[in-house]
Amino acid sequence: MAEQLKAIKGMNDILPPDSARWEWLEDTVRRLMRRYGYHNVRTPIVEPTALFVRGLGEVTDIVEKEMYSFEDSLNGDRLTLRPEGTAGVVRAMNEHNFLYEGGRRLYYIGPMFRHERPQKGRYRQFHQVGAEVLGFPGPDVDAEVILMTAALWRDLGLTVGQDVRLQLNSLGQPDERLAHRQALIAHFDAHAASLDEDARRRMHSNPLRILDTKNPAMQAVVEAAPRLMDFLGEASLAHLHAVRAALDAVGVPYELNPRLVRGMDYYNLTVFEWVTDKLGAQGTVCGGGRYDGLIEQLGGKPAPAVGWGLGMERLLLLLQEVGVAPAAPAPDAYAVVLAGAPMPAVMHALEALRAQGVSVQQHPQGKDGAASVKAQFKKADASGARHALVFGPDELAAGQVTVKPLRDGGEQRQQPLSDIAQWAATLAGPSAS
Ligand code: ATP
Ligand code: MG
Repeated sequence: MAEQLKAIKGMNDILPPDSARWEWLEDTVRRLMRRYGYHNVRTPIVEPTALFVRGLGEVTDIVEKEMYSFEDSLNGDRLTLRPEGTAGVVRAMNEHNFLYEGGRRLYYIGPMFRHERPQKGRYRQFHQVGAEVLGFPGPDVDAEVILMTAALWRDLGLTVGQDVRLQLNSLGQPDERLAHRQALIAHFDAHAASLDEDARRRMHSNPLRILDTKNPAMQAVVEAAPRLMDFLGEASLAHLHAVRAALDAVGVPYELNPRLVRGMDYYNLTVFEWVTDKLGAQGTVCGGGRYDGLIEQLGGKPAPAVGWGLGMERLLLLLQEVGVAPAAPAPDAYAVVLAGAPMPAVMHALEALRAQGVSVQQHPQGKDGAASVKAQFKKADASGARHALVFGPDELAAGQVTVKPLRDGGEQRQQPLSDIAQWAATLAGPSAS
């Protein structure tokens, strides 16, 4: 036998029955986006490497060590599998002049790629849902994008404040960050002995990112570091206040976390994360914030923006952890075909039912015709269908089929094939799980 090939480490197949949970999540997301008036965008999975280097910042975990970059062997171009969605969306908006007539509310769903050490909740190909609002400067939009994530948790059956908690911070504006940065460098300089190698290297290039360290040995020195919050001017504080007021009004609880920074350099003012303590070290389910400088940084006409991204694998793990499970998809009916039943007549009846919206699974016939009735009913039961439709040669000749309830009890009955619409109405409906 030929050697079996395997998927790449950290890149997973999503198969039934698990794929049904993914579809359910995606459907829930699409309904949410419609309610908020967000439109779908689909950008390429491969982009020029320069887009991410310029967009995310050179001294970020992603750009320094997580990107799948390669040379296009046909023309030598430097390419990267997208590690996140925002940079590509901004590139597309700039490229197609989409902000010319005002702002845009957008969302995407799709795979992202990061070369990390695979573990529970951390993969090399993972999937994100993201929302991006471009062109609007006001705190109402910051609040809107946060409120829609809270609405999504509710739609999915998660309890806000319990299963997922909101952390909020403001990163202020570049000049405020500069003043804070100087104070931060002075602080880390004074405590250089307690910094790890990573931090010492970043002290002058990106000291803010040191605050994001996961090294327990550095928690004390990070805890004592000067807080950006104390460097914010009136306008930044007012922006944060307005976001908080909206969250308060709607009743979405949050925690101010002055140490919350984000993995990318492009954020300013509002940043937030939804965290859970039910997933161990991979506790961040969703993160986002305002990125007013990015559009211009990527060559577009200056325009403000705000958005978020959520990790679908982590969200599904969390939903599993708290026991939220959608009903397993089952067909309305399972077609059992007896020996001698004319196949064209069976298929004609099934197509007519499906055209009426009934989901029917047909027992596949073998090379030698119909399988045993017992075997077919076993499959019918396992399918979760509510009804078995038994097609026999004599009944078909009489223009009839036997309908046998599999779940709800009740008598089996003969159904004339003549009135398909009436028949379909008795079969369709929510299937049992
Ligand atoms: P972390 O601190 O856990 O590495 P991050 O800050 O790198 O997360 P973001 O870049 O903000 O994550 O991406 C948004 C979301 O995407 C995260 O909150 C997480 O749910 C998910 N995510 C990020 N990286 C991975 C990964 N390698 N595998 C699975 N999900 C991921
Ligand atoms: Mg990361």
